[in-house]
Amino acid sequence: MDDKILNEQIYELRTKLREWKKLQVEKERRKMSEEQDNDKTDKKFSVWSEYTDEDKAALENLAAGYVDFISRCKTERESVVETIKRAEAVGYKNLDDIIKSGTKLKAGDKVYAVCMKKTVALFQIGTEPLENGLKILGAHIDTCRLDLKQNPLYEDSGLAYMDTHYYGGIKKYQWVTIPLAMHGVVVKKDGRVIEIVIGEDESDPVFCVTDLLIHLSQEQMKKSADKVIEGEKLDILVGNYPLKENDKESVKKGILKLLKDKYDIEEEDFLSAELALVPAGKARDLGFDKSMVLGYGQDDRVCSYTSLVAMLEAANQTFGKTACCLLVDKEEIGSYGATGMKSRFFENTLAELLNACGQYSELAVRRALKNSFMLSSDVSSAFDALYAIAYEKRNVAYLGKGMVFNKFTGSRGKSGSSDANAEYVGKLRDILDKHNVHYQFSELGKVDLGGGGTIAYMMAEYGMEVIDSGVPVLSMHAPWEATSKIDIYETKKGYSAFLTEI
Ligand code: MN
Ligand code: MN
Repeated sequence: MDDKILNEQIYELRTKLREWKKLQVEKERRKMSEEQDNDKTDKKFSVWSEYTDEDKAALENLAAGYVDFISRCKTERESVVETIKRAEAVGYKNLDDIIKSGTKLKAGDKVYAVCMKKTVALFQIGTEPLENGLKILGAHIDTCRLDLKQNPLYEDSGLAYMDTHYYGGIKKYQWVTIPLAMHGVVVKKDGRVIEIVIGEDESDPVFCVTDLLIHLSQEQMKKSADKVIEGEKLDILVGNYPLKENDKESVKKGILKLLKDKYDIEEEDFLSAELALVPAGKARDLGFDKSMVLGYGQDDRVCSYTSLVAMLEAANQTFGKTACCLLVDKEEIGSYGATGMKSRFFENTLAELLNACGQYSELAVRRALKNSFMLSSDVSSAFDALYAIAYEKRNVAYLGKGMVFNKFTGSRGKSGSSDANAEYVGKLRDILDKHNVHYQFSELGKVDLGGGGTIAYMMAEYGMEVIDSGVPVLSMHAPWEATSKIDIYETKKGYSAFLTEI
């Protein structure tokens, strides 16, 4: 082959290559502009732009009430007290009192039942017989935290500490060096209940778990995140003044004297105490534009609060089916125990309710459960652009896109999930659209990355229609979690629509 032919061929190839490259660039450009167009046509991306001034005022009002609620009610006990207070204000009566007095309940009556001060159920009786089923808004009011052990107090090297055992799934390294408040109860042998809240008032002291200084952390920094702070290292610092100089365990003795003088608590009283360490301080608006809320334990008090508000706002509405708002304890540790969803509390309460309505039979209880509809509400994980790799972008919830539905939860092939019925989902879509509720459907994250569960499957065992719904959240289970006010508002709207239409 002579040079001329070779050069011609090279020239031809180069031209082809240039054209091919041009084509690729054009293809890429078209793809990008299509994606941008898609973003523009996705109207639901910014729910905010559709809001009227009235919507915006209502949203801020709801958000302010919510921030106040989660700032004051940090434990299940505190949430139950507040729930009862608000319910009684709109005419709810204690079901136990109804039972004792033998009063018959009728349509429009409103009652509440409490389980061991930690779980509460509100009922608004409808005009239809109870065996036709209920419409249930369920959520949980327990939150991740550090619980004090039963023998907590000790002294080491002139410092007094209290030993904790964490409650719920936490990244332990997130709980060190932040101000912690102590909430809970100490029960004396004579039955007296001493209520404790230390660290919320500006003048209160706070507590904290210390961490090793960075200067000496060469070895610690090499550890994996699950080991960098061990569970047994989550002890809180509680004192440094010795009662008497040079006396053995004098700092501990000083703390005990203080506890005795101020609260009438003896060391042995911790045996019958439920004391939790939670992040100290109030929830706050988040962002320059105050569009979000940063607060402790939004999982799942954000769904609890919005469910409660929707339920109480409907206090004067006439319902066909009986409405119920169920706020339960122990979800974060598997729903076990008398106050968890796995207990018979709800079923037994329903039997009592049927009886108080003059409708009790074993079959009526079973039918009431089977014919019920439920929104099992819990927070859903929101897409976090900093950790985009954990999510599947088309099936994840976004902050600011509205109420979230998870048709199923679980892990490793939906295992452990109740998976809502398509027919029920269809019905809900119709209701939400009719009430102009902005909603999104999502999964927790990418398939096989992890997973989680809620109280839905326990209710599904009765054969009722149940789906997971709620509010998307960033930094779930961290001391401070983030939500969007839009999602809180839309979720409340969704609950109200559900109560009105089901
Ligand atoms: Mn939850
Ligand atoms: Mn949780």
